[in-house]
Amino acid sequence: MPLTQRSSWLTEDLDTFRDLARSFCQKELAPHQERWAQAKQVDRELWNKAGEVGLLCLSVPEEYGGGGGTFAHEAVLLEEQAKAGDDAWGNAVHSGIVAHYLLACGTEDQKRRYLPRLASGELVGAIAMTEPGTGSDLQNVRSKAIRDGDHYVLNGAKTFITNGAQANLVVVVAKTDPAEKAQGVSLLLLETEGAEGFRRGRVLDKVGLKGQDTAELFFDDVRIPAENLLGGTEGLGFVHLMQQLPQERLIIAVSAVAAMESAVEMTVAYTKERTAFGREIFKFQNTKFTLAEAATEVAVSKAYLDQCIERHLRGELDVTGAAMAKWWTTDRLSRVADECLQLFGGYGYMTEYPISRAWTAARVQRIFGGTNEIMKEIISRSL
Ligand SMILES: Cc1cc2nc3c(=O)[nH]c(=O)nc-3n(C[C@H](O)[C@H](O)[C@H](O)COP(=O)(O)OP(=O)(O)OC[C@H]3O[C@@H](n4cnc5c(N)ncnc54)[C@H](O)[C@@H]3O)c2cc1C
Repeated sequence: MPLTQRSSWLTEDLDTFRDLARSFCQKELAPHQERWAQAKQVDRELWNKAGEVGLLCLSVPEEYGGGGGTFAHEAVLLEEQAKAGDDAWGNAVHSGIVAHYLLACGTEDQKRRYLPRLASGELVGAIAMTEPGTGSDLQNVRSKAIRDGDHYVLNGAKTFITNGAQANLVVVVAKTDPAEKAQGVSLLLLETEGAEGFRRGRVLDKVGLKGQDTAELFFDDVRIPAENLLGGTEGLGFVHLMQQLPQERLIIAVSAVAAMESAVEMTVAYTKERTAFGREIFKFQNTKFTLAEAATEVAVSKAYLDQCIERHLRGELDVTGAAMAKWWTTDRLSRVADECLQLFGGYGYMTEYPISRAWTAARVQRIFGGTNEIMKEIISRSL
C-alpha cells in the first residue's frame, strides 16, 4: 500500500509524463551511481541524452526550446530521480534554478540566446553564490564585477558549486557596486568556453552526493560582455535571488519527501526479509513503531508539500511558506533516514546499500539552499 495519497496536483497528463521520467531514471541514472561516485561526476553525455528525450527545462515555454510544462513536471521528475536512488545528476540546479533565473529575470535576447541551449543539453548550468568566506550572508559577497567599457571585469572565488566541473553557463553573483550591500549585487551570465581568467578548482570530496560535481570556481579579471548582465539593470541581483529562492527551496522539499518515502519503503521491505531471534525484524515492536512514526512523518510532510506545490502552481507560494517546507521536510528526512538506517544494522552502513546513500544525501539538505537556521530566521520575520 502506498504511504501517501495521490497528490492533488497530479493529472493524467502528468501520469503519462511520469512513465517517461521513470523509464529514463531507471535506465540512465540508476545503473551508473557507483561509477559516477568514483568519477565524482555524471557522464557529460547524460545532459544531451536528457535533452534529446525532452527532460531538460521542463517548465520552460516551448518558444524558448523548453518542455512547455509547469513546476508539476519538474516535481514528477524529481520524485522519479529519488525513487531511482539518484543522488548525482544536478538537473534541479540546471533546469529548476538556472533556466528560471533566465526565464524570470533575463532580457528577451538572453532568453533566446541561452534557454534553447540549456534545454538541449549543449549548455550545462550552475549558479555561483557561495564564496569561501560568505555563505548565508549573501549581501556580503566579495566577488566584484566592475564595468569597463562594454564589459564587466569579474574577480573573485566561489565554492561548493553544484555542476561546477561541467557547467559552461554560470550565473555568478557579484557586486557591481562594492560600496553597497544588497543594492550592489548583480547576476552575470558567464559562458565559460574560452573565458580567459576563468579557472575551475578541484571537485570537492564530500560525505555524500558523491557523484555530483561540487567544485570551486575562480575568476581573475574575466571579461564578461555587458549584455550578459542578467536583466540588463545593475543592482537587481538580490531582488532576483529573493524571487527565485522559493522555487529552489520547494525543489529541495520535493526531493526530501520523495527520498523519505523511498527510505521507508526500502526499510519495510528489508525488515520483512531479515530475521533475528527466529522472527522477522519487522515483527519487533520497536521496528513497527519506528516505521509507523516514519510513515506518519512522510504522510504529514507530503500533505504540506502538496499544498505548497499547489500554491506555487498558482503563483502564490511566498518566501515564508517555502522556507517552512524546506526546513521541515529536510529535518524530517534526516531523522527518518537515520532511523531507517538503524533498522538495517551493519548493512545500513555499507555504501552498497541504498539506505546508506539516502542517509548521507539527507544530511546536506539541511545545509544547502539556505541553511535551516536561515529558514527559521526568514519565518520568524513573518511572525
Ligand atoms: C553539496 C553542496 C552543494 C552546494 N551547491 C551550491 C551551489 O550550487 N551554489 C551555491 O552558490 N552554493 C552551493 N552550496 C553552498 C550552500 O548553499 C552553503 O553551504 C550554505 O548556504 C551555507 O553557507 P556556509 O557553508 O558558508 O555556512 P555559514 O554561512 O558559514 O554558516 C555556518 C553555520 O552558521 C549558521 N548561521 C549563519 N548565519 C546565521 C544566522 N543569521 N542565524 C543563525 N545561524 C546562522 C548556519 O546556519 C550554519 O549552521 C552547496 C553546498 C553543498 C554542501
